[in-house]
Amino acid sequence: MAPATTAPHREDPPATTSSEDSLFTDRERGFMRLALAEAEEAYEVGEIPVGCVLVRRGEVIGKGQNRTNETRNGTRHCEMEAIDGVLIGFSQNSEERQSREAMARFWDEVDLYVTCEPCIMCAGALALMGVRTVYYGCSNDKFGGCGSVHTVSADGCGKCGGGDGSPALGFDCRKGLFAGEAITLLQNFYIKGNTRAPKPHRKHLWRDRRLEQAERDGEGGGDRGDGLVE
Ligand SMILES: [Zn+2]
Repeated sequence: MAPATTAPHREDPPATTSSEDSLFTDRERGFMRLALAEAEEAYEVGEIPVGCVLVRRGEVIGKGQNRTNETRNGTRHCEMEAIDGVLIGFSQNSEERQSREAMARFWDEVDLYVTCEPCIMCAGALALMGVRTVYYGCSNDKFGGCGSVHTVSADGCGKCGGGDGSPALGFDCRKGLFAGEAITLLQNFYIKGNTRAPKPHRKHLWRDRRLEQAERDGEGGGDRGDGLVE
């Protein structure tokens, strides 16, 4: 059994409440406020501001915020951080570590509250773990795995499922809780600029290929007019 790590209660309500927010219960809104607090902390340290909490039996058992810049690891989305935190919390002798069925029962009682729709990678991870319901704020139009781009939430992971060959099941999704607050955080971040983002490597790979081609063709160096010279 993972230790309960109840996050500090966040009293202040968001600045605005949309009509969609009123479709959710006070308890659901309270958990999403905790996820927003995680996203705000990520914003403060220069990370893409997305945050989440994992809830089981009415208690926060895990939380996460994006750490992709700090770790230079593009997989360190808040959902992966939160899942890893819960798994690390299991003792070596816990029932969940000893039994696949016990682990499945544990995650079947877990809900995720995340400020932005999980990407395809994270939706796959959530399906593999077997979470019950995902509550999210704004949609992720470029990478969303809960319907915006792919329907991992409905379809699961197909044959990339559990170690016994069974497919990972989907999970329920409820969207739109404090979407405005989640979007505002992201907009503020991108207006400021993602200053800590690692420089992409693709440009260099492309440049190297062009240089190799130029050498094979007997051309000299210098500006080739492709805008790729640093
Ligand atoms: Zn993700």
